[in-house]
Amino acid sequence: MSTILTYIAISDGKLKRSSLEVLSHCKSLADASGASCEAVVIDANASSFVDGIQKYGASKVHVVEDPIFKNHMNTPLLKALSKVMSSVNPSVFAFASTEGTKDILGALAANQNAAVIADVASFGLIDGGVTAKRPVMAAKIMNNTEAKSDKVLVSVRSGSYDLNESPESAEVVNVDFSMDDSEMKATLREIISASGDTIDLNEAEAIVAAGRGVKDEEGKALISELASVLKAGIGASRALTESGVYDPSLQIGQTGKVVSPQLYIAVGISGAIQHVAGMANSKVIVAINKDPDAPIFEVADYGIVGDLYKVLPPFIEEIKKIKS
Ligand code: FAD
Repeated sequence: MSTILTYIAISDGKLKRSSLEVLSHCKSLADASGASCEAVVIDANASSFVDGIQKYGASKVHVVEDPIFKNHMNTPLLKALSKVMSSVNPSVFAFASTEGTKDILGALAANQNAAVIADVASFGLIDGGVTAKRPVMAAKIMNNTEAKSDKVLVSVRSGSYDLNESPESAEVVNVDFSMDDSEMKATLREIISASGDTIDLNEAEAIVAAGRGVKDEEGKALISELASVLKAGIGASRALTESGVYDPSLQIGQTGKVVSPQLYIAVGISGAIQHVAGMANSKVIVAINKDPDAPIFEVADYGIVGDLYKVLPPFIEEIKKIKS
């Protein structure tokens, strides 16, 4: 029986939602194809995550636990993934497309002589491989890609699949792991967290994104209030990160983060192709812009034409009423 393996990433001591989305999809592929659905978790406290993982349908969870995994480091992660991959021999090894995944996917493919399709919006099984849809050319075009190999690595954009609980009583496989200091090629000296305690945009269910239409502190306060009532993350167009109004880590788009929350509210953003490349995959897009011809309305599900300074206060009040 073939195996579909999912890598479950951990961030700030929590299971990454995007990994569980991928696992949910792999579970449905495994059920349809008769493959075994398995997962691997690698962390300093990896065994504590097994309960959360088995809820999403993994029948076997490979656990690699070692203090070295307290923070993301490419060398030990690559070694652990290679070890698990060599022993499980999955036909498909699926990842959420996180920054950490981008760092190691190519090296793992080379190391394991596997094919790789990165950053897909969806994927399925075909005879002898994987078929996937990949957004290309700043997400203007969806490219159909096939990889035919007995081992295919695939990374999936966050928000591409829904979370689907499918509880299993998983077999736990503890994987022996040790790493000699001499094997470490890099030293982690410091982690600088640019956006403090703000919500991780890759994991956020809702994002309120500000563009050049947000001109002053009053506008920023409205964005913060809307984000707060929706428990949303705050993002920004490049116009506002370049001018220093928002931190560069909050930039969404071709040269920023690629996000796909359930709800994306674009406030005072024109909808330039480079911005849309980073948010077009969002489930529901709401645009607020005073220009009825702004290109953002072409990708929006709901549009409000108006001055954000007049639209947002009653909009926020209505959401507060609904929430209460
Ligand atoms: P603008 O295009 O100036 O739009 C402002 C909008 O606000 C207008 O539509 C206006 O009608 C509206 N507005 C103004 N006042 C109000 C008001 N009071 N109420 C309501 N609406 C109002 N951009 C990104 O965002 N992310 C990227 O990753 C990115 N990468 C790039 C990479 C390259 C190589 C290049 C060349 C560009 C990149 N850009 C990126 C820049 C991009 O082309 C746009 O310049 C940028 O997205 C514009 O930001 P904006 O929509 O906030 O500003």
